[in-house]
Amino acid sequence: MYSKLKAEVCSANKELHSLGLAPFTWGNVSAVDRENNVFAIKPSGVPYDDLTPDNMVVISLADGSVVEGDYNPSSDTPTHYILYKEFPQLNAVVHTHSINASSFAQSGRAIPSYGTTHADFSHTEVPCTRALTAEEVKNDYELNTGVVIVEHFKKKKLDVSSTPAVLVRSHAPFAFGKNAHDAVHNAAVLEIVAEMAIKTELLSDKYEAQIPQYLSDKHYFRKHGKDAYYGQK
Ligand SMILES: [Zn+2]
Repeated sequence: MYSKLKAEVCSANKELHSLGLAPFTWGNVSAVDRENNVFAIKPSGVPYDDLTPDNMVVISLADGSVVEGDYNPSSDTPTHYILYKEFPQLNAVVHTHSINASSFAQSGRAIPSYGTTHADFSHTEVPCTRALTAEEVKNDYELNTGVVIVEHFKKKKLDVSSTPAVLVRSHAPFAFGKNAHDAVHNAAVLEIVAEMAIKTELLSDKYEAQIPQYLSDKHYFRKHGKDAYYGQK
């Protein structure tokens, strides 16, 4: 069962690896099937080259249990689970430890919008959550990683449909998308935007480098929303 979902998640995980965004086994992609109330995710610790659709693990959104698959799911599965539970509009999640985005996460900083590459991707800064407490790390660490993301989105009134990525403080990024491949694409663009932001700060004053709002608006809304006109209809 779930062959289409498993094939999509398998190829997106391989794509994540081939893009260099997940060295070793440090990254995972999942995607949801809302009709059947399940999501599929990469198995834990299996090298990307050995992934096949059949070794993807299917998880119930009702209780987080394994519905199908012979392997243990990614250790980050509870993070994906809580994100799908709390954000009904969410379709796919990617987690990486890509270097530049993770460097912002380790600094506890959101990624500011410094130019049109960022504005094409997101209308706002890429947010960064608070750090987890000792208690949250000790008990249900992976679930609580998702809980701090949910808390941040609720507090800041952000929507996962229009916020393509988030950084978890002292950890690394999570990217979202319309499907598994779209989420991988957003994880890749996030890494480019983060690298550009670091280099921009090396070359200029970070307050002066902020993109003007009118330019950010132009770039974001020509690609996103009801009046978008970029690309082919
Ligand atoms: Zn991680």
